[in-house]
Amino acid sequence: MKRQDQPHGSRCGRLLNGGIPCDLTKLPRCQAKSKTSGKQCRQPAMRGKRVCRFHGGKSPGAPKGNQYAFKSGLHTAAAIRERHLVRELLKSATEILHELESQW
Ligand SMILES: [Zn+2]
Repeated sequence: MKRQDQPHGSRCGRLLNGGIPCDLTKLPRCQAKSKTSGKQCRQPAMRGKRVCRFHGGKSPGAPKGNQYAFKSGLHTAAAIRERHLVRELLKSATEILHELESQW
């Protein structure tokens, strides 16, 4: 059978640069959104990443322990946890107060 007679799907072979032959339409899509249109980028995401090569998929990310974005500490994990705790405490205190009010 000549190569021209075969449909694209049945071709079996290696791709350049070690690529794995697969159906590109079934790959996970890039999660980045366009600034102007607000629509999602439809490029296939890079392997093991949630974005494509244009939207930071090639970047290894910030080095571990990087403090460049630290300004006030308002959004650190500890601060967020503390705010959640305070909110839950307030909520339970309000519930207790309501229960006491209904008993009087
Ligand atoms: Zn993208």
